Amino acid sequence: MDKSAFYVAGVPESFKEQLIQEMHFTTGAIPVTYVGVPLSSRKLTIQQCLPLVEKITARVSCWTSKLLSYSGRLQLIKSVLFEMNTYWGQVFLLPKKVIKMVNTICRVFLWTGSNVFSKKALVAWDTICQPQAAGGLNVIAFEQWNKAAICKLLWALTHRKETLWVQWIHGYYIKCQDLASMSTPKQACWIVRKIFEAKSWFPNTNAITHLNQFEVGGRFNIKKTYTAWFPQLPRPNWKNLLLSSGPLPRHHFILWLAVQNRLATVDRLAKWNIQVPMECVMCSSQAVETMQHLFFDCTYSKYIWHTILTWLGIQKQIGTWEEEVQWLSQRVKNKRPR
Ligand SMILES: [Zn+2]
Repeated sequence: MDKSAFYVAGVPESFKEQLIQEMHFTTGAIPVTYVGVPLSSRKLTIQQCLPLVEKITARVSCWTSKLLSYSGRLQLIKSVLFEMNTYWGQVFLLPKKVIKMVNTICRVFLWTGSNVFSKKALVAWDTICQPQAAGGLNVIAFEQWNKAAICKLLWALTHRKETLWVQWIHGYYIKCQDLASMSTPKQACWIVRKIFEAKSWFPNTNAITHLNQFEVGGRFNIKKTYTAWFPQLPRPNWKNLLLSSGPLPRHHFILWLAVQNRLATVDRLAKWNIQVPMECVMCSSQAVETMQHLFFDCTYSKYIWHTILTWLGIQKQIGTWEEEVQWLSQRVKNKRPR
């Protein structure tokens, strides 16, 4: 909240006046808004969440962000999502549709640098959300993170934390019942019901035991929950190459595209019906510009790679792209890879 305000409800007008005079705060009007969205016990509507969507759109559509490279855009997306999860994800349970909208804005911005809707994507968003070791770029998968944040609320309930809302739910809904086995109180508001329903995400209806495994030093850890839940893809054989700290961020991004064969080479452009001359521009051999040709079938790129290897004092037969990537991945495992 921008400034502190004072909210009064359920008391006679005269008492309210008296309170206002005693407390030197301005009085606030209900519903209360927090970073543009109303705090409410009901399910947030799409309309109410729009300020959030607009904030993100504003961040990615200012003129400076248009000039960013892929890796610059990626950094911006990471910081926007991180902020959202710090300020929003733990206060609000966002409707699925809003999460989808946010993901779309981020995806379109990453691949096109603009906020105009496009389906263009060189790599699937789910892959981008994978950890680096699993071939991703470590972007937060917002839906799963939101889920993990709800579990934190459930954990606070099971541990009867000394906060007002926990005490209130225990006093009004749980009373003497067993939280693990009791059913969701139907008369409770949307948020409370959502917290109760989170129990069903765990096997054998024993959410409480399962929740405890996500504690770190006696506190619930959202990151640990998220990591345990987000299914990881099998580790690709080129992961070491991407995990090494050598390349600059923008080179890192291009390398990441290359190892997945997602560079916009002319053979791929042709598949998208983009007409360009097919021949390799480097060796003028009539060979079609494919990944395999560019690295390292092409006499020109082969010559460059050979020269670099000689300069490094390495003698080897130059193989195909896959063989060279495999060979490099093995080499960067050393402590001081050149
Ligand atoms: Zn060539």
